Amino acid sequence: MTTTEQTAPAVRTGEETDEEFRARLRAFLAENHPGRRPKDAAEALAWQKAWLATLFDAGYAGPAWPREYGGMDLSFAQQVIYQEEYARARVPGPLATGLGIAGPTVIKYGTPEQKERWLGPMLRGEKVWAQAYSEPEAGSDLPALRTTARRDGDEYVVNGQKVWNTRAEIADILFTLVRTGEPDSRQKGISYLIIDAHAPGVTVRPLRDLTGGADFSEIFFDDVRVPVVDRVGEENDGWRLVRTSLGHERAAGAMNQASLYRRVLDELIALARERGASEDPLVRDRLARFEIEVRIMRYTGMRTISDIISRGEPGPASSTSRLFTTTFEQELHEFAVELLGDDGILGRKDPDAVQKGRWVWGFLRTRASTIGAGTAEIQRNTIAEQVLGLPRDPAMPPR
Ligand SMILES: Cc1cc2nc3c(=O)[nH]c(=O)nc-3n(C[C@H](O)[C@H](O)[C@H](O)COP(=O)(O)OP(=O)(O)OC[C@H]3O[C@@H](n4cnc5c(N)ncnc54)[C@H](O)[C@@H]3O)c2cc1C
Repeated sequence: MTTTEQTAPAVRTGEETDEEFRARLRAFLAENHPGRRPKDAAEALAWQKAWLATLFDAGYAGPAWPREYGGMDLSFAQQVIYQEEYARARVPGPLATGLGIAGPTVIKYGTPEQKERWLGPMLRGEKVWAQAYSEPEAGSDLPALRTTARRDGDEYVVNGQKVWNTRAEIADILFTLVRTGEPDSRQKGISYLIIDAHAPGVTVRPLRDLTGGADFSEIFFDDVRVPVVDRVGEENDGWRLVRTSLGHERAAGAMNQASLYRRVLDELIALARERGASEDPLVRDRLARFEIEVRIMRYTGMRTISDIISRGEPGPASSTSRLFTTTFEQELHEFAVELLGDDGILGRKDPDAVQKGRWVWGFLRTRASTIGAGTAEIQRNTIAEQVLGLPRDPAMPPR
């Protein structure tokens, strides 16, 4: 890897056109590309952290974040360019879920001291943040959560269990929702608490998924002591914060996914050509539909960024974008596996697998896309109620 000193400083005085910005970013990403991901998990983590530090130190981290916290505070057009170039360069993305979800929440609701303490290290990848909201009995119905935080002087004592927590096995910090009100207080008795993942009483156990990987975990809290100053927002007001944070979770990936799938679709079209399937009218029809959809994703991603810039929040429309993207990626991988026929089911470890089994791996991985960050059914409910103004889901308890 070349050092950051060899590149031009990211923050410039004077005007720079969007195309100059694109060229500068493209050159930076190419010159500093960290190379292939190491196979060993610990080495891969160190490699990814080193890359995030390189980005941060050179002023290329946090395209939408304010400058005072180490971000770039880019204009709308430059955020679009950033996501496009980032996907094109095939460099590693953020670690775990902190940047896209907890970051915007702390920026909006954190105290100056919390922002100072948490945001820089999160953006630089020094501290990995993982989301710990879901529980065995509280997924779609998150207000039913039961993990308790009992006040004891300047500390909370936390007990309970979380589950499906993405990359919690590498986390330094967990951003959680805990019950500080009465057991049946639902939304009115939830607080947003930041917990040290290495504190005594925290146990993180990785769970294996159908791809063979173990990218999410279950977490147990056993009399974990957490300073009250690590609560974001007021006690029992966490639900208001979590609505922001879930909106950001759904919106965070929109433009990034659109840029990523632009490239993946080009690769799928190349694959269809290589396999002699590109003359087949049915294949062409499907590819044309994916082409239209990838373009819609781009415009939706742009709309999401523009909403965040103008209103400070992604809003309920982030559900449309999430639903569209997750359905798209499932259909794209289903089609790729179909296109490959028998060869399509050879997995990553099979020496005869086509392109190292990436398509069947994607097929398996994207089964989870319409569950994580709110299931497809819940996204549809949100769109029905908050975008279309239809009556509330009768299955949900009154707010
Ligand atoms: C890949 C992945 C990553 C995840 N990462 C995280 C993470 O980092 N942190 C975290 O806290 N959680 C995470 N989750 C958990 C995720 O948020 C939950 O799985 C999700 O909210 C669904 O909850 P559940 O699994 O309890 O299913 P349930 O809520 O029990 O739902 C079961 C089924 O019932 C349907 N259903 C439920 N209620 C309704 C309704 N009112 N109307 C219509 N249908 C309904 C659902 O759509 C689903 O099909 C992740 C999940 C996945 C798959």
